[in-house]
Amino acid sequence: MSPLVVQKFGGSSVAGADRIRRVARRIARERARGSDLVVVVSAMGDTTDELLALATAITEDPAPRELDMLLATGEHQSATLVSMALHALGVPAIALTGAQAGITTDGRYGRARIAGIEPVRVHEELAAGKVVIVAGFQGRSESSGDRHEVTTLGRGGSDTTAVALAARLHADRCQIFTDVRGIYTADPRLVPKARQLDVVGYEEMLELAHQGAQVMQVRAVELGWVNGVVIEVLSSFEDAPGTLIKEDPFVEQRNKVRGLAHDRNVAKVTLVEVPDRPGVARAVFDPLAEDGINVDMIVQNVGHRGATDLSFTVPRVDLARTKRILEPVIRELGFRELTTDSSVAKVSIVGAGIQNAPGYAARMFGALADAGVNIEMISTSEIRITTIIAEDDLEVAVQALHRAFELELPEAEVTEAEAEVTEAAVDAGDPATGVRAPRGGGATPTGTA
Ligand code: ASP
Ligand code: MG
Repeated sequence: MSPLVVQKFGGSSVAGADRIRRVARRIARERARGSDLVVVVSAMGDTTDELLALATAITEDPAPRELDMLLATGEHQSATLVSMALHALGVPAIALTGAQAGITTDGRYGRARIAGIEPVRVHEELAAGKVVIVAGFQGRSESSGDRHEVTTLGRGGSDTTAVALAARLHADRCQIFTDVRGIYTADPRLVPKARQLDVVGYEEMLELAHQGAQVMQVRAVELGWVNGVVIEVLSSFEDAPGTLIKEDPFVEQRNKVRGLAHDRNVAKVTLVEVPDRPGVARAVFDPLAEDGINVDMIVQNVGHRGATDLSFTVPRVDLARTKRILEPVIRELGFRELTTDSSVAKVSIVGAGIQNAPGYAARMFGALADAGVNIEMISTSEIRITTIIAEDDLEVAVQALHRAFELELPEAEVTEAEAEVTEAAVDAGDPATGVRAPRGGGATPTGTA
């Protein structure tokens, strides 16, 4: 049997006739190697944004059902055009909507989740020798009878379509073609020395994506992890090896920060002198949650004389809404004032190797201090340390951290400084769990399999 390859091409890869022809040539080349192909496409260039702008130019409050039908057309355009470009090369191909490809969803407009895939038609068309082009970012709502609706999967949802199809079809490969070469140790636009990674573990990729790395949709990474789909991220503009997102068996031996992520879409909210009594946090965060505002870092200070300060971050785009929602709460609870700061940014170090290694936090804060960067908030997870800093300091901070953690060096080269942190981590190993940081890690080749 010929291998089955799922390829996904993002919006910039299909922006315009020339690029669509280039994508078609790339698909034709893979097919000439004997692969069966299912190709998922995003809407061309900024089409989705333009359609959204059109809708909101007509009404402030477009009906979610109509909006989803409208947005889904962006992917219909690119799918049919890629199919035609293949025909022009003499390659049999057929474009399918998400519904035709058998993708059903839970029916939530604008943020539907895939409920199931019955790829009967996909199999038929493959058996008939065709390349199957699937419109990404959409599926039809599950329903009894034929009253199903067009639903979209949320921004960036074509990644999810591709990974879900790869899982369901047991594809041999799942390739995400995009406008960068792969996953980098930091955003190359901020850090010229950023290095492309050969491999990144699912968990690390999820943290990077959550903390601002924009290459892959978070949900697609989750789906890949749950289903064990090895995801290859690579450039659609050049023939270069990409980055593999997969279970990373070498993590235990490589005690190192994997990459940095940053996010400017952050604002800090501080509630000054909030009464220090039960129920206050609920009164503040319940209404925000109800409105779907994603509260991220939360810091509450030690109380003094019955009052305390409470700070948290929200996406900058939601700041105005957050203030509006909290105004009645302020009056009700009677705290002194609400201050906001939208000129902050979030910087994170991520790596499975930093687990149980206190040396990393100290090193991160030291590097920021040496660079003259003030830390406003800190939060940690098992494999991540995040700080909030002034947005003006972002570039300096990211570059300093990239240097401090020696991310520009190939992974096989571990230096003295790295070994020192590792030693410290070993000394601090948790006797209760017996979890210890590996000694002198990092000398692991991470060649692509
Ligand atoms: N076209 C949709 C968007 O721009 C989906 C995607 O690109 O994956 O969000
Ligand atoms: Mg897009």
